[in-house]
Amino acid sequence: MSPSSLDELIEALRCLPSVGPKSAQRMAYHLLQRDQRGAARLARALGHALEVLRHCEQCNTFSEEAVCQRCANPRRDASTLCVVEMPADLAMIEQTQSYSGLYYVLMGRLSPLDGIGPRELRLDKLIARASDGRVREVILATNFTNEGEATAHTLAGLLAARGLKVSRLSRGVPVGGELEYTDAGTIAQALVERRSV
Ligand code: ZN
Repeated sequence: MSPSSLDELIEALRCLPSVGPKSAQRMAYHLLQRDQRGAARLARALGHALEVLRHCEQCNTFSEEAVCQRCANPRRDASTLCVVEMPADLAMIEQTQSYSGLYYVLMGRLSPLDGIGPRELRLDKLIARASDGRVREVILATNFTNEGEATAHTLAGLLAARGLKVSRLSRGVPVGGELEYTDAGTIAQALVERRSV
């Protein structure tokens, strides 16, 4: 391996969140020296995922089909749409087994400091989804962090302007709390006690 391909690998690893030059270097040495099989598997899995995964046309989460299985399930209640930041949040709400509606996954949150505004977050896609004529209530289940709250606030305005009933998870989830790290019972409670906004 010429130094430049090693440098390229180290540089590429830095695209991971909170990976600086030192940890990128450690990862590269580990993969190349200690775990070549793991490295090959990682390369294959990443290539394959990039090839086959896209975003569900309806809920925006990762899916191998144009419309994911959850959105295609006729037993889900199509009149309720729960908006979450990430697929991990969706998984947490599913774990409560107390929600039977559909979802919309933002794949992020509004974050002006990182240059993520309504356009970058494709909020137009959510508005179009929520305006399908079947959705009657949109539940905002973004995190209770500053950015999550600001995102919920913006969404509430946009959705209410289209005559949709909008609600927010109750404060059962602690301030600054992220759904991903909140227990299922608390989330279930916050869903039941959701309040109109
Ligand atoms: Zn879907």
